[in-house]
Amino acid sequence: MAWLLELNRVSKRYDAPGEQKVTVLQDIDLRIGEGEFVAILGPSGSGKSTLLRIIAGLVPATSGTVSYLGQPVTDTNPGVSMVFQSFALFPWLTVLENVELGLRYKDISPQEKRTKALNVIDMIGLDGFEGAYPKELSGGMRQRVGLGRALVMEPDILLMDEPFSALDVLTAENLRRDLLELWLEKKIPTKSIIMVTHGIEEAVYMADRAVVLSRDPATVIADIKITLPHWRERKDEPFTRLVDRIYSILTHSRAAQETVQALASGAGRKFTALPHVPSGALTGFLELLDDLEIKSDLYKLADELMFELDDLLPIVEAAQLLGFATVSQGDISLTPVGKAFAAANVLERKELFRRQLKERVPIFERIRWVLDSKRNRRMPREFFLEVIRKSVGVEAAEMQLDTIIDWGRYAELFAYDETSRVLYLEDEEDEAAARV
Ligand code: ADP
Ligand code: MG
Repeated sequence: MAWLLELNRVSKRYDAPGEQKVTVLQDIDLRIGEGEFVAILGPSGSGKSTLLRIIAGLVPATSGTVSYLGQPVTDTNPGVSMVFQSFALFPWLTVLENVELGLRYKDISPQEKRTKALNVIDMIGLDGFEGAYPKELSGGMRQRVGLGRALVMEPDILLMDEPFSALDVLTAENLRRDLLELWLEKKIPTKSIIMVTHGIEEAVYMADRAVVLSRDPATVIADIKITLPHWRERKDEPFTRLVDRIYSILTHSRAAQETVQALASGAGRKFTALPHVPSGALTGFLELLDDLEIKSDLYKLADELMFELDDLLPIVEAAQLLGFATVSQGDISLTPVGKAFAAANVLERKELFRRQLKERVPIFERIRWVLDSKRNRRMPREFFLEVIRKSVGVEAAEMQLDTIIDWGRYAELFAYDETSRVLYLEDEEDEAAARV
């Protein structure tokens, strides 16, 4: 029997004019059957929205195929409808009209459309608001309309792109429960739900399966069954254990792994992307870890800091990359160097940071070497940009260089002049003088 949805080696490359081609998705294989609620997790910018759009047939894949019930999808996918993070309502249409819009291409009478739309409005708890305009509604109610517009089409597959992330905590929780109830109690004919999210807890709370993507390019790095019975308790041990496990997988992202491999093999010549974290943020994070004692559960930490996973991940990655912290089974702990760093004074910290950078991130030694080899000990930013560009593409290169310069300046490996956009080495005498 054919799968409800099947992706075979789906890849996506964006060809920006005059730039390097960027491969966003690489050989994504995915089979989704009837009755499955699948969450797709991954770092921001990894290609989750792109993947959903390809499944919906809104964007073509560069290679590979998407099939719905065994039929390759060549145009808009007839089996799906989509709920967007931004709600995407028409402000000049009422709730009823916005929901009816989902049926505009259906070959049924206007009366039938109206009946269906009113039914759905009832179901999603907007009874009495049929005539209201979006601006009269709260965010939660607007997203209910977004959901209604998708559900009225009675799609086999409901696609949702971070549907709760623009809502406040309580509203989001409310809507999650209502949707889950519709799904679990089969009040909607939907056969499968695919939800993109960056909330691990949200995924473990709602879904039967978590598909985890890496980035640059995105590949499927884990596909985990979630068999806990509904309704799930977030404080329960099996729940938190699963959240920890997925957190671990996400924090051991491809970039970090590649860096470690490159270091281990002694190759380390090719530039690997750095997480975009200002040195000040990293410093603060290490101090915090030190204050929090030996080991901290990452997901609780994120929770306590009221951080989104997306915000915390790069910092964790940076701390790992520089050897200040290690992550194992969802717990983060400081290494001896990390502890020394947290306890050190300003100058000692710079010294430690410098040492870690030189040992673990080859680009810094290369920049030093280039500057040292020049008689005037100066080199324009553009030069290094060109070097990095070859590895990460034009757009990412600028941001990468910003991070490199920030870290390098903090470690006093080199100086940078913003106005002339030049990296340079300070004179030894000046340096010595400045330290006295
Ligand atoms: P996510 O939803 O996981 O945050 P996206 O799918 O939105 O990620 O984007 C993945 C990558 O593809 C990003 O680097 C983004 O800049 C790039 N991208 C997305 N859409 C386009 C486009 N139309 N043209 C070029 N690059 C794009
Ligand atoms: Mg997205």
